[in-house]
Amino acid sequence: MREALLHIDGQQVPAEDGATMDVVSPMTGKTIALIAHATPGDVDRAVAAARRAFDDKRWRGIAQRERARVLNRAAQLLAQRVDDFAALETEQIGRPIREMRAQLSRLPEWLEFFGAVAQTDRGSVPDVGEGHVNLIRRVPLGVIGMITPWNHPLLITMKKVSVAIAAGNSMVIKPSELGPLVPLELAKLLEEAGVPAGVVNVVTGAGGTTGRALSEHAGTDKLDVTGGTETGRIIAAEAGRRLIPVTAELGGKAPVIVFDDSPLEEAVAGALFASFVATGQTCVQGSRILVQDTVYDAFLARLLERVGQLRLGDPADNETQIGPLVSALQRKRVADAVDRSRAQGVTVAAGGAVPNGDAFTAGQFYLPTILTDVTTDHDVWRQEIFGPVAVVVPFSDEAEAIRLANDADFGLAGSIWTRDTARGLRMVDQLDIGIVWINDHHRVDPASPWGGMKDSGIGSENAIESFHAYTQLKSTMINTAPSGTDWFGTTEPMRYS
Ligand code: NDP
Repeated sequence: MREALLHIDGQQVPAEDGATMDVVSPMTGKTIALIAHATPGDVDRAVAAARRAFDDKRWRGIAQRERARVLNRAAQLLAQRVDDFAALETEQIGRPIREMRAQLSRLPEWLEFFGAVAQTDRGSVPDVGEGHVNLIRRVPLGVIGMITPWNHPLLITMKKVSVAIAAGNSMVIKPSELGPLVPLELAKLLEEAGVPAGVVNVVTGAGGTTGRALSEHAGTDKLDVTGGTETGRIIAAEAGRRLIPVTAELGGKAPVIVFDDSPLEEAVAGALFASFVATGQTCVQGSRILVQDTVYDAFLARLLERVGQLRLGDPADNETQIGPLVSALQRKRVADAVDRSRAQGVTVAAGGAVPNGDAFTAGQFYLPTILTDVTTDHDVWRQEIFGPVAVVVPFSDEAEAIRLANDADFGLAGSIWTRDTARGLRMVDQLDIGIVWINDHHRVDPASPWGGMKDSGIGSENAIESFHAYTQLKSTMINTAPSGTDWFGTTEPMRYS
């Protein structure tokens, strides 16, 4: 069995009290790895290592061009290891291997992109009037505390780490206890590529202990969390108390808005992907499918047909489209939400149960589920389920689609399916949503900002803006006058400067 230790200052070390936690396969129910359960003392050691690495400038003191070279080397190493890392992701969280290969094969792009940003970033010299020159530069923030979820273990860690190291910061990462193995491998890979020891540290353990110790630690200069909205509130409150910046990527309840001019097959395929990729366990899951009433019946009939054809099975199998949920607890949450909907009068048009058959007894499977006859008063309309459950609701016109789509506490993502681009853009203007796709869903790119409105979080990942969020401005004002001014040496009117 695999044993994973903490990654502190370039060393693999056990927790100071020797405590471990099991990583359980959601497919077999068997323990596949033991991870160290970091104590607050271990977190303290990791933060101290990151601080030393920042203070002695072993990384931020290197020219940005050289940092970019290291990131590019890391991108090459990662590209070579995609198959191994994808297999490990599949083993620990149960997502189909087909998905994990596709996702991980894009991750070198984050290292390349932020390497390029670091190389091309430059300061500015605003005009502040004659007699002074103002130099403005971006400098790294310091030690970053990162707290990441289990649903895309490496993607989400990469979104944070690539930009943080490109900007010259040091960091301590607390991955989810359900998906810690690949983030640990990433730390080793970065050091192999040339990132000095101490810059990237990983403390594994539970959210309520290790995660809490990191978010409450006085030694960090920014917190960056992806997780549920309640976790985000706790961590953001901690950042607020300490007056440090926080980025929080939190929950969602994404609408998929289908107009009657969208080719039916394309819209159904898009909704199917939006709702059931990652077995529905994504923050941008298309959990509310809104369909124009003129095509509602035809759309629903075809969607149900396609849902019935989805292939559930062993996530390690190349043919599998839907794997198990990540844990027994997650499956219980999903099943409870569906049962509650049923009790509230919602129609279960597909799924709504654990699948039958020997192939599904050990794994945490749940059938892809479509709910209809849902109103905005039902719990399932509002609450994030984080599983393979979507509601299908009709609308009559643009105004009603907007009203329904915006009727949520979340505002992370949504998609619009129409051939009328002008209408699509009109809709985008009126949606209280941070990421909107037209005729697509879940498309992510290192160059494109990723962040939600309302309860979906604060700030954005990706793009030049996230580089800025991992740096702070330093302003230097230089007096270029031939001689200085003597403020108190005269009673003449003076210019305050
Ligand atoms: P959680 O909020 O349960 O956990 C997120 C991370 O926070 C984990 O590492 C967890 O540790 C840790 N944690 C939990 N409690 C605390 C605490 N009190 N103090 C510090 N850290 C803590 O989310 P999940 O992992 O279950 O992920 C699912 C959620 O993430 C969904 O709501 C989803 O929408 C959101 N998400 C948002 C994304 C976005 O881009 N906006 C992308 C992906 C997911 P541990 O797991 O070990 O308990």
